Amino acid sequence: MERIGIYGGTFNPPHIGHMEAAQQAIKLLHLNKLLLIPDRIAPHKTLPKNSPTPQQRLQMLTVAASDIPQAEVSQLELRREGPSYTYLTVEELKRQYPQAQLVLILGTDMFLCFDSWKNWKWLIQNVIIAVLYRGQKGEQSAIREKRDALCALGAQVELVENQVTAISSTDLRRMLAFGCAAPFLPDGVLEYIRENRLYDFGRDLRQLPMEQLEQTVVSLLKPNRIAHVLGCRDAAVQLAKHWGADPVDAARAGILHDITKALEGPLQLTLCREHGIIMDTFFTENPKTLHALTGSVVAERIFGENEAVVNAVRHHTTGCAGMSLLEKIIYVADYMEPNRDFPGVEELRRLAFSDLDGAMRLGLEMTISILQANHAQISAASLEALAYLKQKQR
Ligand code: FE
Ligand code: FE
Repeated sequence: MERIGIYGGTFNPPHIGHMEAAQQAIKLLHLNKLLLIPDRIAPHKTLPKNSPTPQQRLQMLTVAASDIPQAEVSQLELRREGPSYTYLTVEELKRQYPQAQLVLILGTDMFLCFDSWKNWKWLIQNVIIAVLYRGQKGEQSAIREKRDALCALGAQVELVENQVTAISSTDLRRMLAFGCAAPFLPDGVLEYIRENRLYDFGRDLRQLPMEQLEQTVVSLLKPNRIAHVLGCRDAAVQLAKHWGADPVDAARAGILHDITKALEGPLQLTLCREHGIIMDTFFTENPKTLHALTGSVVAERIFGENEAVVNAVRHHTTGCAGMSLLEKIIYVADYMEPNRDFPGVEELRRLAFSDLDGAMRLGLEMTISILQANHAQISAASLEALAYLKQKQR
């Protein structure tokens, strides 16, 4: 019997993680054919400027899948009016392929909430469910439990452990903005994006006016970081006015300081590689701190910021010996902006306006003692910064 896989998604844009999953599904699930089905984005949903049209998503997917002979891109959901319910797609495919066995391919998240889908009970009678999962600890037991519960109701569930490049379309759009997406895009897709100027590709982001800078940065942050970044910007401006630094530089450094923070370790390392950044071992062993380094490179090369701003972003997590006034302001603002809440923050806020070096010392000491308590590595730059400030104090 012919086995046909159904692999839906927004594919905005399609990336190598999708294509690797498609290839593994074909092989491991013994599929004769795999239908790649871009879903409809609800018409009332407002998308950012230069987002691809449904037709462009379809074309990108066609380009991406062109070297997978069993893959076929389907317009089924794009053509259909109304909401993109999977059961409607399956109904239609059953009419089209009455003899075939249909295999619905799901990622872990989708599978775990499967019983909230419209007509899921009908679906389990009409398709085989295949779950592509990464085989990470924690998630395995949840997946097995769900599988057992669904199988008890008559579902057929196949679990497929796979190893695909870990990247989301959201991170991919970030990497596009940072000029580092090439390693994650199938052949031809980057060219398509460039030719059609999708996702603001090729837009000059250097020296944007403040309002546009804020909009652009906010679109690249994780939603839960936005308040912190805006808070840091505001605190930095206040401190700059108080201590006589340039408030415009303070605002720009504040808004940009966590610009690459959304990216996980492996993507941070890709950014370094693509921009030819040479790192010391501290960074490779502590990729969490890398966002200061990669952020400074993005501030300089993508946003065209001046040296003072770039250096303030560069040193905002660890500090360094001989910090400039702006560097200290960003370090302290990051630590005490209004959304921060931890024991000692009030003292830090008080010191920030009475003794900036004292606030720096307190921040460094708190960070170092937390790292020590966690048996984590302390950066040489932080120790040098503290030693420098203590010497200056004498
Ligand atoms: Fe940071
Ligand atoms: Fe921060």
